[in-house]
Amino acid sequence: MATEREPVRRTTQQRGLVLATVKASGVEHPSAEAVFARVRDMLPRISLGTVYRNLQCLAADGCISVVHLDGGAARYDPSAEPHDHFVCRTCGMIDDLPAAGSPAGRRAAELAGHEVTDHAVVLYGRCRRCRAPSEP
Ligand SMILES: [Zn+2]
Ligand SMILES: [Zn+2]
Repeated sequence: MATEREPVRRTTQQRGLVLATVKASGVEHPSAEAVFARVRDMLPRISLGTVYRNLQCLAADGCISVVHLDGGAARYDPSAEPHDHFVCRTCGMIDDLPAAGSPAGRRAAELAGHEVTDHAVVLYGRCRRCRAPSEP
């Protein structure tokens, strides 16, 4: 097959597929392993390392963003726009929230003489579905 001798084209194909998989994930915020499982269905020879590397590049290029949750692996987000997150402690769902703008801690950091370039807000609790009384 021609693609065997065209590493550049293969790399582009892999990256495109990884990007498409993340873009199709809605507010799921999949882990690298979850993206890998889906990409592997289409490219059986791809490795987790390759998927991980592509995710890192896409995030560095601003095509997607990375969410770091406490104690968990990095999760990937199709939205590269700044926004906050809500995580359900019960079922693990992650929801997107509009960016709160300037968090209270920012002013404190600036008063301490630090330059704030970035912020990530993750709120934890119980989601709408987990709060609802269970169906009879
Ligand atoms: Zn929940
Ligand atoms: Zn998000």
